Parts: sequence; structure tokens; C-alpha cells
Amino acid sequence: MDNDEWMKRSNSNKNTTLIWTSRCVATEEYVKQLTLESLPEDVRQAHEDWSIYVHDMWWWVMPFINCMNINLYDMLDNWTVMNWIKIESPKWFLTACNLTIQIIFWITSMCYWWKTIPIDALSKYLKLSEDKLREKIWDNEELVQKLLYDELRAWVQTMFYQTLTLISSQDWQWVFSTWYMALLDSDPYIKYTKMIIDEILRQKIKGMPNAYWIPHSTAMPKLVMLLSPNLKDKYHDTMDLAIECISKRSMPDWVSEKKMREYHHWNVFWPMWCRSFLSDWKDENGNRKYWWRFNKGVVSINLVRCALEAKETWQDFYDILRSKAELCYKAHMFRINVLKWTKAERAALLFMYGAISRKWADDTIDDLLEGWYSTTSLGYVGIHEALLVLLGKGIETDEWHAEALKIVKTLRWYCEERNERHNYGFSLYATPAETTVYHFNTKDRERYENVNGIFDHKYYTNSFHINVRTPIDAISKLEKEAEFQKISSWWCISFVECWDLSKNLKALEDLSWYMYETSQYAEFNFRNMDVCSTCWFVWELLIKNEKRCCPQCWETDLRKLVWTKRICGYLTTNLPNKGKMEELNERVYHI
Ligand SMILES: [Zn+2]
Repeated sequence: MDNDEWMKRSNSNKNTTLIWTSRCVATEEYVKQLTLESLPEDVRQAHEDWSIYVHDMWWWVMPFINCMNINLYDMLDNWTVMNWIKIESPKWFLTACNLTIQIIFWITSMCYWWKTIPIDALSKYLKLSEDKLREKIWDNEELVQKLLYDELRAWVQTMFYQTLTLISSQDWQWVFSTWYMALLDSDPYIKYTKMIIDEILRQKIKGMPNAYWIPHSTAMPKLVMLLSPNLKDKYHDTMDLAIECISKRSMPDWVSEKKMREYHHWNVFWPMWCRSFLSDWKDENGNRKYWWRFNKGVVSINLVRCALEAKETWQDFYDILRSKAELCYKAHMFRINVLKWTKAERAALLFMYGAISRKWADDTIDDLLEGWYSTTSLGYVGIHEALLVLLGKGIETDEWHAEALKIVKTLRWYCEERNERHNYGFSLYATPAETTVYHFNTKDRERYENVNGIFDHKYYTNSFHINVRTPIDAISKLEKEAEFQKISSWWCISFVECWDLSKNLKALEDLSWYMYETSQYAEFNFRNMDVCSTCWFVWELLIKNEKRCCPQCWETDLRKLVWTKRICGYLTTNLPNKGKMEELNERVYHI
């Protein structure tokens, strides 16, 4: 494994020098082989050929679900069962926090990638704690508030620590969790929600101490926040905290309330990071529901290969695209058949005790796979390079922008067409690929000539993104990508690369409000998160030939240097593959 570049770098969050991670990666390789042997022959070939990519194959022959939105409301407000122990609704905030992390940790062993929780599910319990304190200390409100804040601070901190220190060997590293924070006026406990959100932001800004006591940015939990109009006035202090947090920790990410409502039937909900937003679904009473739901898996198309294979005309390109999409569809159907007939008791916490459903032990999960309840994602990589091949110009030119939109619309149409065939929630997914952009490029390079410079770099551009080398300002980038977000609204993400804005937080706030008007989902990337434990330098470390160095004291001991970057969505501390590393170095600043 030590010599296998692919195994070592397939995901930058896997540090394969660690014993438990190496064991997990070895197991993954074995399961991946099993999946490869079980896939339909043409799908296997296309995957091995890198014209499509079946993501997370090491889970595919087992009935694991992908990312999900945990129904924390139901689990906390009613009851759940863990390891045959019945757990009733908590009576204190501290118990609710503890139970939440236990739930996330358990679910980590039952699904792959992200578990997203809504933070407002905890608000009611903060009020319960307040009520209980008031019962005891009825004559001193100041003391009540002080004790309540002590409990809040201690338990938010505990949740942070637990998220970062409970390492699951099942998931090879941290517990992948997203905390979704929203201040909606419809929330009956909004006062308490705001208290929790503010505390989360304050602690995230402070950072977590590393082994040498230096506070630093941590990847987990990932924070995602709804950008809603009340942050402009009523809750502007929370907005200030969020902006400061973004400038220091590159999070929270923003979900625009305006765009969510516009694109999703006036609804607003959170993503199952990083496997997409959920699609529209109504229960028997016509109510839309966006939690208690999940993703089944992702397959992405190498659009550059489609362009390289197309000999002359657009028609050739679209014919090839359709045939690749058909292969993805076949892979998806394979996946759905693996999940079918799974009995609820095989993952009781998920399917019997509230995280996804409340079924009987012998019930199957088949009904959850159908009718848009869960999504099945069709991803795409490399529109920019595909256009370079076909037209000689990239996505950033107005002239060819329209062609790129046409490609994304066609892919969306394929999804809709499939849902008419089999209603399994096929949805379009702007892949935030990490390894795939490098491997697609490497494999195409082995067999094709360098057309219009597509192989001048070791990576392809993700989904509909404007390539990272294009000098473009943040506003224009958000504006151009927004058109694609509208079509690819089941998953889309726009990045803005920022230089130091710590002295100009107003600019960051203005840009956030511009994003509110244009984009469903956006992230701001800052380079200031590296830390040297020897001289307390905080900014960006020097990287050369995979070696790190502090530019201030020239420390090179890896244990003392924390390197933290956003590679393609979440933060990571391990260096990524060669292609993605090159991409990172070539990114231009947008503000
Ligand atoms: Zn240093």
C-alpha cells in the first residue's frame, strides 16, 4: 500500500500511514474488487477505462446508504433505541447534545460519508434546561442565565471535542458530520437556536488546540448556514460572528434562503453534504419533507472523454454523452438492486429507531428507494475542458457559455427521462470531485493528443466551474456559475478564493449578500489556516515536492506543521493527489 499512489491518495482525508486507516483502505480495496466483479460488464469496463466513475465503490455491494439528513427532531423529541437500550426524550440540553453525538457516531457505521443534523433540533432542550434552572433558582434570573450559558458553552465544546476525537475505524477517520444552522422566524425556539448558533460560531472562531496547544481550524464539524434576510437586521450580531468565522475558518458555507425558495417550491432545507440536496417529495398529506431522507450513490461522467471521442459534430458528442449516461443508469440500477430487500433490522437505528424511518424489524426499505424519497445522483466532471476540445474556448467566454448550459440541461433532461422509466429520484449532481479530476485527466492523457492545452495541467475542472486559473472577480464568477446552479440545483457549489479579508470584513459580508441574490450554495476559501507549532506562525505554509516548511522559522517537522485547505468542499489536513495539488497551487484569487 505504501507504494500505491492511488490507494494512498484516493481521498485526502485518509492518512494511510495510520494503522487503522491502512486496515480500512485494505478492506475497501477488497470490497471494491467484489463490486467490480459484480457490476455489469460494460459498466465495469467504462469505470476501469475512466470514461465514467462509480464513486465509493467500496460500499456498493453492501446495503449501506450514502449521505443523509438525520431526523434528529423525531429521535430527540420521541424516543430511540441504541444497542437495545431504549432512550427517552432528553430533559436537559446536556443530555440532548450527548445523545446527538452518540447518534451521529453510531450512524457513521451504518452509512457512508456525511450525516447532517439541524442544530435547531437542540433548541427546545436549551429551553428545558432554562425552565429547570428557574424552578430551582426562582429569585435570581441573572444566575439562571449565567448557569444556562455555562451549560451551553460546556456542551457545545463537548460536541466539538467528541466530533473530532471519536474516531470510527468504520469510516477510517473523523465522524463526517455537518451542522446546519438556520434562524427562521417560524422556529418557535428561535431565541435558543440563536444562542446555540452564536456559541458554535464563537468556538469555531477560537479554533481547537492542536497537540502543541496552538488553536487551529478543524475540518469537522462542517458548518453550513442559511443566509436569511433576518441576519441583515434583527440578528446582525450573528451575521458578524458568521463573517468573522468565514474569514478565519473558511466556514460556515452559505445556503441562500432566496434561491432555495425560488428553486425548491418555496421550501428551504439543507444539503446532505456532500452528496447533494434532496429532491422534491411529498407525503400522503401533501407535505414536503426534507429530512429523514438520504442518497443512494453517485456515478459521474467524464465529459472530456465524451468530447475526445466525438469525432466531428455536436451530434457525435451528444450521442456519446447519452451512451455514457446510459451506463451510469445501469450502474445506478445495480446499486438500487443491492439496496432492495434490505430489512430494517439490519441497520436498526437508521430504519427502525428514527434516523431515517420507524419501521418494523422485518419490513424492507424498498419504499424508501422509490418515488423520489431518496436521490440517485448523476455527476459530471470537466465541462471547461470538454469545451476546449470541441470549441477551443473555455466556459468563461460568453460565446460558449450557452453551449455549456446546453450540456448541463441535457444531463438534467436525462435524469428526468430516467425517472419516467424508474422513479428512483435520479438527480443531477455537479460533482465536487477530488481524485476523479486527476485520474480522468491522467487516463485521457495516455490515449489522446493534447487538444487545445487540456493536458497542460494534471487535472480537469470540476462540474460547471470556471477553471481555477481564470482571472475573474468574485461577483462575475458567482454570477456566471449561478446560471448552472439553477439547472443543477440538486447539487451545486460555487467557490470564491479570497485573499486576506480580516481587515475588510464588510467586503466579505457584501459578497455574501450578493451570493444570497444569485447562488443557492457557495463557499469562501481562505489560505490562512496553516499553523506552525514551533513559532506560532499562522497563514500559509510553503509546500515543495510534498514537503512542508514554515516560511517564518523554516520548521520542516511534519508533526509540528498543520496544513489545512479546502480541496473540494470540506477542509483537509493531508496533501491531496498530484493533480489536485497542482490545481490548488494554480488557483487565482477572486477577491
Ligand atoms: Zn514556524
